[in-house]
Amino acid sequence: MVRSPALPEGRTRAEKARRTLSIFGATGSIGRSTADVVLQHRDAFDVDVVTAQSRVEELAQTAIQLGARLAVIGDATLHETLRARLAGTGIAVAAGQKAIVEAASHPVDLVVAAIVGAAGLEPTLAAIEAGADIALANKECMVCAGALFNRRAAAASVRVLPVDSEHDAIFQSLEANNLHAVERITITASGGPFRTATLDEMRRATPEQALKHPRWAMGPKISIDSATMMNKGLELIEAHHLFDIESARLDVLVHAQSIVHGFVTYADGSVIAQLGAADMRIPISHCLNWPRRVLTATPRLDLASVGTLTFEKPDLERFPALVIARAALENGDWATNILNAANEVAVAAFLEGAIGFLEIAATVEAVLDRATATVGGTVFDTVETVLALDGEGRRLAAEQIEFRGRRAL
Ligand code: NAD
Ligand code: MG
Repeated sequence: MVRSPALPEGRTRAEKARRTLSIFGATGSIGRSTADVVLQHRDAFDVDVVTAQSRVEELAQTAIQLGARLAVIGDATLHETLRARLAGTGIAVAAGQKAIVEAASHPVDLVVAAIVGAAGLEPTLAAIEAGADIALANKECMVCAGALFNRRAAAASVRVLPVDSEHDAIFQSLEANNLHAVERITITASGGPFRTATLDEMRRATPEQALKHPRWAMGPKISIDSATMMNKGLELIEAHHLFDIESARLDVLVHAQSIVHGFVTYADGSVIAQLGAADMRIPISHCLNWPRRVLTATPRLDLASVGTLTFEKPDLERFPALVIARAALENGDWATNILNAANEVAVAAFLEGAIGFLEIAATVEAVLDRATATVGGTVFDTVETVLALDGEGRRLAAEQIEFRGRRAL
């Protein structure tokens, strides 16, 4: 039987007219879309904390716009700049990674987890511990922590509502009374900028080409993940944890129009899907306002003008990241943790010009091979072990990239 994010066990929280909300990663693509959704329904939310890593001016503007109580900047050297910018506004300021985690412990109804990468893990776990429901955009923290993430959420009786558009589509397509009758879950992929490219074109792809996503405007890391399709691999792992469904019943379909975001196949042969324009404000609004639906300023879907919807199986030869991620999912949490860490390092190296596009997946694969011998099978119960494993994945990836670089000289 699969699990629905709507139904955590032992959870009965009264519905409130106004919700308190914090946004972690407020200056990013998801953070800005979240601010948009909140501003459209100003009366429905009280914003407590907004955070960012380095974009201090944008953070200050967002804090003022949303009437936040506290703004936290991750880069401690920008503390004074933030303080000066917010002087006289009544908005409190703090700085540094520790301050971000502390701010996550404030008691609020909902925390939007929109930091990119494993850096979002500690604040998100702190928010869970403090009893906040999580609107989860930061899939990497789930991929890196594995089952520990769910155990923490269950222990605190908090809901994890998926912001990721495919997972929100599944959330919307799951019928509470028929979870036992779910046969398969399918998430769709746009195919990214290289959907029709040859392997040779992909080998020569520049960061600029890889960042140009045909359907979605997103932050740089997830844009590269979409180009390699590692994003879909991370999403398979995310779906496994969110819906408690095994790899063999999870499918990926390439759907270039990005209109059908995901669907559930039931035992009676019915397929229930969610459709919508490619606009993250739709799933964000769904999570922020759930279980109600409210007006959003998003484009309405006009299927007659779309005309044709196409679906195809992913090409696993050109997109090996999908195979690598699925194998990691089947190997266990230690493997998905290493996969995520190596991928973060490899994506950064590609964006800096240190490795080629196809080397991103190759690096992750090589790191997983090497890690099998050293940390393979590691079981974790503590955040310290999760972070130690993540550190090992990053170390191996950096070594791998350096080794490849030296070989190329
Ligand atoms: P982004 O790069 O646009 O924004 C990232 C945010 O995180 C920024 O506010 C940044 O200041 C903050 N941040 C970065 N590093 C940090 C650190 N070390 N410590 C604290 N804060 C840090 O990214 P995004 O596109 O908004 O994506 C955010 C998350 O949402 C990612 O996990 C991504 O996979 C997921 N997601 C994004 C989209 C999308 O459409 N953009 C869709 C689905 C899921
Ligand atoms: Mg997605």
